[in-house]
Amino acid sequence: MRYLLAIFAGTFLSLNITYAQKPVQPSTSEIYHSLEKLNFLGTALYIAAHPDDENTRLISYLSNHTKARTGYLSLTRGDGGQNLIGPELRELLGVLRTQELLAARRVDGGEQFFSRANDFGYSKHPDETLEIWDKEAVLGDVVWTIRNFRPDVIINRFDHRSPGTTHGHHTSSAMLSFEAFDLANDKSAYSEQLKLTQTWQPKRLFFNTSWWFYGSQEKFDKADKSKMVNLDIGTYYPVLGKSNNEIAALASSQHLCQGFGRLSQRGSENEYVELLKGTMPNNSNDIFEGIDTSWSRITGGKAVGEILYAVEKNFDFTNPSKHLPQLLEAYELLQKVEDNYWRELKSQELKIIILNISGLYLEASAETSFTNPGGKIKINVEAVNRSSSDITLNTISISSTNKTIQPSIALKNNEKQNFEIDIDVPSATNYTSPYWLNEKGSLGMYKVDDQSLIGKPETPRAFLVKFELEFNEKSITIEKPVIHHYAKPDKGEIFQPFEILPEATASFSDKVLIFADGEPKKVPVTIKAHADNIKGELLLNHSKVWGIDAESKSFEIAKKGDQQTLVFTLTPPATEDESYISPIIKLNGKEVTKELAIIAYDHIPTQSVLLPSEAKVVRLNIKKSGEHIGYIVGAGDEVPESLRQIGYIVHTIDPNTIAKGTLDKYDAVVVGIRAYNVLDQLKFKQRYLFDYVENGGNLVVQYNTAGRWGDQFENLAPYPITLSRDRVTDENSAVEILAKKHALINYPNKINKDDFNGWVQERGLYFPSKWSKEFTPILSMSDKGESAKKGSLLIAPYGKGNYIYTGLSFFRELPAGVPGAYKLFANMLSVEKNIQPTKLN
Ligand SMILES: [Zn+2]
Repeated sequence: MRYLLAIFAGTFLSLNITYAQKPVQPSTSEIYHSLEKLNFLGTALYIAAHPDDENTRLISYLSNHTKARTGYLSLTRGDGGQNLIGPELRELLGVLRTQELLAARRVDGGEQFFSRANDFGYSKHPDETLEIWDKEAVLGDVVWTIRNFRPDVIINRFDHRSPGTTHGHHTSSAMLSFEAFDLANDKSAYSEQLKLTQTWQPKRLFFNTSWWFYGSQEKFDKADKSKMVNLDIGTYYPVLGKSNNEIAALASSQHLCQGFGRLSQRGSENEYVELLKGTMPNNSNDIFEGIDTSWSRITGGKAVGEILYAVEKNFDFTNPSKHLPQLLEAYELLQKVEDNYWRELKSQELKIIILNISGLYLEASAETSFTNPGGKIKINVEAVNRSSSDITLNTISISSTNKTIQPSIALKNNEKQNFEIDIDVPSATNYTSPYWLNEKGSLGMYKVDDQSLIGKPETPRAFLVKFELEFNEKSITIEKPVIHHYAKPDKGEIFQPFEILPEATASFSDKVLIFADGEPKKVPVTIKAHADNIKGELLLNHSKVWGIDAESKSFEIAKKGDQQTLVFTLTPPATEDESYISPIIKLNGKEVTKELAIIAYDHIPTQSVLLPSEAKVVRLNIKKSGEHIGYIVGAGDEVPESLRQIGYIVHTIDPNTIAKGTLDKYDAVVVGIRAYNVLDQLKFKQRYLFDYVENGGNLVVQYNTAGRWGDQFENLAPYPITLSRDRVTDENSAVEILAKKHALINYPNKINKDDFNGWVQERGLYFPSKWSKEFTPILSMSDKGESAKKGSLLIAPYGKGNYIYTGLSFFRELPAGVPGAYKLFANMLSVEKNIQPTKLN
């Protein structure tokens, strides 16, 4: 029990001491603010599904106005979304968004939790969501978080009563919270958790409603509000010099990869929460009404409160260290409190106040940002007392090692002390990497076996420095993570996490290799050194039916940070096949099978992520006609590279250069996803694209969106076509071939139902809902319980050529190496054409 509480209390510590940024020494006003929070003993938990779902206005209000301990439980880490600031997708995007949430919480004063649920992509209904997530496991994680965090009040972002009206993950988060509210206090529910924690009954459950859920402000104005609590979240905090809305906007603006940078707001603003469980507060502005949030709440707390309330009341803003004797007395009394939860939590808060009030600066910086298991590293410790307080530094010890030094030195006012400590990193130390990615999970769930890690935002740091201090003869221990502290001329001072990495990692440049025929291909594997003077063997694991020029090759790299590329030649089998290849580095009797991804941005601490290194190899038997493809690249489009892999020569077309006759040399022209949405000039080039088709060209247009306000492109196709928001999100949904005899299904590759197996994430999106009679719909598909959608692939002859519009997710399927998608794409490029490869010269 003690262990777990320490974990959750540990998160609080990181609120004031961040890894990335310089440790901020709070001003006296900020210390006063934490003192006010110290004197509030109440907890609120906000629950939703994704990074960015959280209402930072309300989280900031509860944390800074109410002064409650406030948490946000995001069921997922947002792996499924898009990234506006860099290349990270899927697991790596989840790591980036985890850090953006932590950055947001550092601003609004909240804490952050997660479940094991994975953001697998869009789902229309909670039934689908809860089938793909392991519902029992995710519910267990919500119960676990409630039991550990012990909220008095829970607030859902979404309405559990309206399935189908928003993302299935959203409604699911509210439904699971609604259920967990009672289960958390049920001894028979998730009883195995009770070896590590205890039951807990929150007092109230709310839904964070707004006019949006009612359709309009007018309807919301007329709604019955007798079950609603109204909070003015525009309040101004003189102590912080900011209004609540300004803090909330700053917090939201940490979600940069989602494009959430936004303007700050000022002035009064109402927020509503609707009571779902528990009793309605009498005072309609206080969600904690009737809940004792004073020190009297806990046995032995009253005496602690008497001291701390007096310090708050008489706080000296010009000489705060004069309160040290009272704070130390309160700290000593607090150690006698029997309630583990409150003792641990409030001791952490109080220790940080004692540290800050004394102007005490403690830092432990490793000489480099990482080392290897079994490595040696020097740690520089700085300690300086910037007050007249009587402080002695007795010992400094480093966790995960046996290293302790005993300076036993008085820290005199503003006299800096430095210590150098050499440590041997134990060879059994785990590599630093996000714990939820250590083992392969399923589509809907991360795999985490260690219950104590579940809920935590990030992997606990392996190396903590423990400072044993004596304040006025009273002993207090402070822990700090080891960091790496340096300066960059163009960035200034940088604080980076200190990490443990393997001696070497290996990666492929292409994650999917398509063998369109029986020809061998060269496969480069790059080894990166994370230690000096490494020498070993690289094996390439492959399926028996694939041939390789050598089972292993040797490497030697002199300098940490350098890399070496080894090239294997892989020969595909004679018949179609899909399998994986993976490198194994053999080095000093150890095997490493991971690749390293570094995520570095200014708004988050740098992240090192170790992922299984592998590439998919696909032997296809693809027939195609034509060779030269003109491609107008859309948004985030990897399709050109995929087409090159199956032997096409792909020419990227700058839309500005399109003029009469410039396209005629291509065997087919492809318009990338959302090209019309991102390339304004393209709309004015449509007549040349249509001329191209009229003269016998083959034009393939991939999905575009109709625009937020429903405006249509009048001339998207040579005949009328109406885009819609129709989508089929189940990648396994049945596909019916409507036009069985059409060339698209028969030439040059014969397409059958099997070609729709193994698709990823979805079938497609933004299908046209209406089209003129010239178009032939080729396929029909639907999500469970919905009408059949026939607009995923439409073709119309125009002049001597063909116009094809498709919302099928080729932009996902081709980079994932899905064979059926390649065949269908080759057919689109080859359909009924009079091939003249010599046209291009
Ligand atoms: Zn969301």
